This record gives sequence, structure tokens and C-alpha cells, in this order.
Amino acid sequence: MRPQILYPLFAPVGSLKGVGPRVAPLIERLAGPIVRDLLFLAPQNLVRRRETTAAEAEDGENQTLTVTLDRHQRPHRPGQPWKIRAFDDSGFITLVYFKGHGPHLERQHPKGARRVVSGKVERNAFDYELQIVHPDYLLPAERADEVPQLEAIYPATAGLASRQVRRFVLEALDRAPDLPEWQDAAWLRRQGWPSWRTAFEALHHPTSETDLAAGTPIRRRLAFDELLAHQLALAQRKARRRAEPARAVPASDLGRRIEADLPFRLTGAQHRALAEIRADFASGERMSRLVQGDVGSGKTVVAMLGMADVAARGAQSALMAPTEILARQHFETIAGPLARHGVKAVLLTGRDKGSARAAKLADLADGSAAVAVGTHALFQDDVRFRELALAVIDEQHRFGVNERGRLQAKGEAAHLIAMSATPIPRTLELTLFGDLDVSRIDEKPPGRTPVATRAAPMGRLGEIVGRLKAAVAEGAQAFWICPLVSESETADLAAAEARLAALRELFGAKVGLVHGKLPAAEKDAVMGEFAQGRLAVLVATTVVEVGVDVPAASIMVIEQAERFGLAQLHQLRGRVGRGRAESACVLLYDPPLSELAKTRLDILRRTDDGFAIAEKDLELRGGGDPLGLRQSGFPAYRLADPVAHRDLIAPAADYARLVLARPGAASGGAPAVELLQELFDWRPDEGAAAG
Ligand code: ADP
Ligand code: MG
Repeated sequence: MRPQILYPLFAPVGSLKGVGPRVAPLIERLAGPIVRDLLFLAPQNLVRRRETTAAEAEDGENQTLTVTLDRHQRPHRPGQPWKIRAFDDSGFITLVYFKGHGPHLERQHPKGARRVVSGKVERNAFDYELQIVHPDYLLPAERADEVPQLEAIYPATAGLASRQVRRFVLEALDRAPDLPEWQDAAWLRRQGWPSWRTAFEALHHPTSETDLAAGTPIRRRLAFDELLAHQLALAQRKARRRAEPARAVPASDLGRRIEADLPFRLTGAQHRALAEIRADFASGERMSRLVQGDVGSGKTVVAMLGMADVAARGAQSALMAPTEILARQHFETIAGPLARHGVKAVLLTGRDKGSARAAKLADLADGSAAVAVGTHALFQDDVRFRELALAVIDEQHRFGVNERGRLQAKGEAAHLIAMSATPIPRTLELTLFGDLDVSRIDEKPPGRTPVATRAAPMGRLGEIVGRLKAAVAEGAQAFWICPLVSESETADLAAAEARLAALRELFGAKVGLVHGKLPAAEKDAVMGEFAQGRLAVLVATTVVEVGVDVPAASIMVIEQAERFGLAQLHQLRGRVGRGRAESACVLLYDPPLSELAKTRLDILRRTDDGFAIAEKDLELRGGGDPLGLRQSGFPAYRLADPVAHRDLIAPAADYARLVLARPGAASGGAPAVELLQELFDWRPDEGAAAG
């Protein structure tokens, strides 16, 4: 039950003065449906209004003047504005209204009246006269104190001006109660942070531009509150899942034999990840582990050895990939080594039909297949397992939380391994995956030559293509990436098709194209031809699935590389350099490059460690959406900026653990912290990462 003290904040925005049925939906779109959402809406800007006179007014500045109205000038033609001419001791100024009801204006502000007027003062382009178009304020002179000298500017939307929003926000602030402190007193003192209520008071009454910066004590305090609320939810979710007993899976001889039989030795990082998985398996608690590592770092092999342990125990595993191509590749990687030791794996995708499909389903239902590899087809209702004990999700961010849950639900308290090739900086790991345990495979299998990476301006396209031609003549294969960047997908597609046509002039039929709009079967067919070496060049939009394995491909050309995120470029580059051949990556850009873009391309040239690149990428970004994560389940914070406030993430996680470890915490013994959680509404079953 929600504590009574929070009722005013959870009231609908419609309960605020002046918010009727027209305005309420606008506020809801802008901020959210309840009063709290307005309170959480931070101002973006600050307007200073200087008092001035007609003689001293400055072009382009927000200023306030006290004037006498001289006359109303009606429009002569439709489309012309209504004008009010006014003056003070030093000169004239015209108030211009394109919208609004002139006669009403005239009644409200008759000739001869003394008014205070405020807005952006400009010089009319034609006659160089002083004017204010749509003044922000026009009030009787005796109400001059209602015109603020400093005004916080809020996000606005069609039909709802910033100033109205500000009014509602300030009313929400009035309703915000004082709440007991949930942060640690000593910590607060050390940080020099104000109380919660005081912080909001200051947030909505900024006194200078610096008050709006993410680094102020006010903002940091509120950011910490939000991060803490989220970390509490994640920690609770993790604890809850841990508390569910799951079957223990002992490390097996079978697993060891399969490992010994591999044509290579595991890297140190793979060994570590496997040991962590085995420790989870042995614990009797339910495993939820994320295995992070660059494409080709050997995640799938590690997961396979986990599956072997499960098979030795007589239970089953399922590995789900986001696309058919990837599912097939995984199947090809693991089916052989497993089969040699008597473990049967089946591949199940949307293509399986009729009796072949029925046979696979029967194998899974009676347990004769210990491993299923597949796509979304795996969680269709008629796919049943005899005893599913482990769900492995590849490219986990491409599945919704529900989808992951649906696969896990085919077993009872099934263990979960999520795999991701998106390197996440350590600091962000906690916000994205705070409810998972994380293993990092930060070491590449030996024998891979680093990809020689160069940046080149578009002007050198001819030269690049010439070299590509020479390389192809010697049997090389290349990816050619055209970005999805413009507003319209069709325009992007057209660009990719144009590139295809241009390359076909040189390479003939040995060039193929894949893109997101292509039906899955066609995409597979083209990819297949490339994988088998029948195509020399594969033109692709970025949709080419991360992780697709074409070891023979050794050249990666990326057009408009400056438009991609660093992490994304790194992933694209990871598609080559998989074999022993020398590989190359060419980053084509449209000059001139900004300093930032230059730095980014430079980092890429110098390192191929995904984690280091992700860390750098984060440093280089001022804020916003780090690594384009918002679409991949990154929490939508309102007061915290995961980049600017990243130093607060770990302390918030530590403090969350501390709070939850306090005696009585689980049974509601921490009322202030509970208020915090209610306030932010992070439910333990929502948010990022796998459920
Ligand atoms: P990921 O899933 O991280 O993309 P995979 O497990 O699919 O990587 O491995 C990529 C390729 O590298 C596979 O062909 C696999 O057989 C091979 N591989 C994996 N681990 C090693 C290793 N330790 N040494 C050599 N090759 C390896
Ligand atoms: Mg992979």
C-alpha cells in the first residue's frame, strides 16, 4: 500500500489548478500522468530578463520595459499582425501579435494604460523599429513583480508553452511533502548535499546557468536518489531469484571430455567464465549470469560446456538466437563436439515444418535430444522439454524480458545464461545488469591477427575500390557497410542499392546485398552465398547480424563511419579478423571530421579491446544515450544521467546492498527507503536485463 504522505504526489495532474481535460493529456505526454512526474521534470534552460528602456534595449535579449500604450494598429489584410504601439520616456516600442484576438487585446490593454511588458526585443528587419513579437508578459504596471528576473525554461509541447509548464511544476513543488531522509547521514554530509525537498526547491528555482549543470550538488543528490531506487529494485529482484531453489548441476566428466576434445585450448578468460558458471550450477541457487565478450571471444563454446554438464545430469538446455542465421551457426559450432560424446542437439527454426519438425519436438519432449538450438520458434507452445534446466540467450538485448522469461518458463526454475557481444563499460554494467551476475571474456583466442584499421575520406573512394578489386582478385571477401542514418529508411536503402549497383559494375554478379527489409529467407540465401564464398562482396546495412561468422571474410569497409557509435564500429570490425589471414578495416568518412569524430576514429585505430573502447566511448560522450542503449533496455532515468553521474552508480549499488542487508529490511523495516522506492516506482519486476 502506498504511504499516505505520498498521496499528493501520486494525484493525477488533472488535480492541479488550471489543468483541465485539454491540458492534462499534454502534460501527460510531456512529463507523465501524475503530479510527481511534473516535480521530476527538470528545467532545461534559464532566461534572464533585464530591465531596460526603449533607448537602451538590446537586440535579441529578453528584457522588461515599463511603457504607456499609445495606440492599437489593426491589421489591414488577413495574415498581418495586430500591433500595439507603446512608449516610455526614451522612445517607442511595438508589441506584435500574429495570433490572438485583437479586440480582446484592446479591451484588456486600452490606449493610455501603463503596462509592464517582457519578451525578446528585436529590431524589425524593414524599418529597424524596436519590437517584441508575442511578449511573454504584458501586465498592468503595478504587477511588475510578477515578471521574474530569472525564469526556468521547461520542455514544452504543441499547445503547452514552457511558461504554463513552469506554473504547473511550481504547483507540484508546493504539494511535495517533506520526507524523512533515506540517504545515509554521514554520506550526505560528506557530499554536501541538501535534503530531498530542498533539492527540488532549488532545482525549480535556479539562480544561474550553473545550477542547471549535472554536476551541482542538487542534481547529484537527486540523481543518487534515482540510482539508489533502481539499484534497490535490481538487488531485490536478484535476491528473490536467488532464493528460488534450482537443481544443482555438478561439473561433469562429460564436460571435461568434450573440452579436452576441442581442437584448441580454452583461453584464461573462458576458463574463468566456465568456472563461474560451474560455481553457480553447484550452488543450488538459480543462476542468472551474463557472459559478455567481443564477437568471436568464445562465449558460445563456454555455454556449450555448461550444456554438457546439464546433459550429464540427464537434463536439457536450450540456446536461443535472435536470427535464423545465428541459430544455424551456433548449431554448427556445438552440434559436432556434443555429438561425438553422445549428446544430441536439434536445430529448431521457423523453417521446420511437418514431420521433420514433429520428430525434433518428439526428441525434445522425451529427452533424447539434450540440447535445442533455435530462434523464437523455440518458445512456441508445442515445444516441450522433458526437463529444461538451462536457457542460454544469445545477443540477449535483442529479446524482450518477456521473451526470455517465456523460454525459461519451459523448465522449472531453469538456469539462465545470457550472452552479449555489446561491451558495456563496468560503470554501466550495474545499471543495465544489476540483477545479473556478470562474466567477462576479455581475452581473444590466440592466433588472431589484429585488424589493420584506417580512416579515409570519401574522396579516396576510387583508390579504396581499386585495392578492393586487387584483393578480391586474390580471393579475398569483403563486407561493405552502408549506414542506416537518414530519417527515412527508403533513402538509406536507396543509398545501399546505389552502392550495390556501383560495385556490380566492377565486380559483376559477385556482389550481393542484404538489408532489414529483405524477407528472412532471402537474407539467409544471400548470407549463405557469401559464407560459401560465391559472393566476394556483401553490401549490407547495419542489420547484418552481429555475430555472423564468415571466417574467410577479411575486409570491412564502413561508409560514413563518423555516424556510427564507437562500440558499433568495433562490433562491425569484429566480423573480420576471425581467421588467420591479414584483415583490414577501412573507415570511410565525409570530411571535414569534427574533433570528436577524429578522436573516436583514432581510438578505434589504436585498440581492438571492446571493453576499453566502450569505456572510452563513454568518456567522450557528454551525456544522453550512451552507446545507443536506450533501445536495448536501458533504464529511462529522469533525474540521473548515466554518463554524467556514472561515479554515483557504484556507491548507489553498494548502499542498496547495505540497506537490504539490514535486519528487518525485507519485512518493511526501512520506511524511508520504502518511500524512496514508491516514489520512483521501480518495481523489482521491471527495468533492464533478463527476467
Ligand atoms: P562468440 O560466441 O563469443 O562469438 P564462439 O564461441 O562462437 O564466439 O567462438 C568463435 C570461434 O572461435 C569459433 O569458431 C570457435 O570454435 C573458436 N574458438 C572459441 N574459443 C577458442 C579458443 N580458445 N581458441 C581457439 N579458437 C576458439
Ligand atoms: Mg556469438
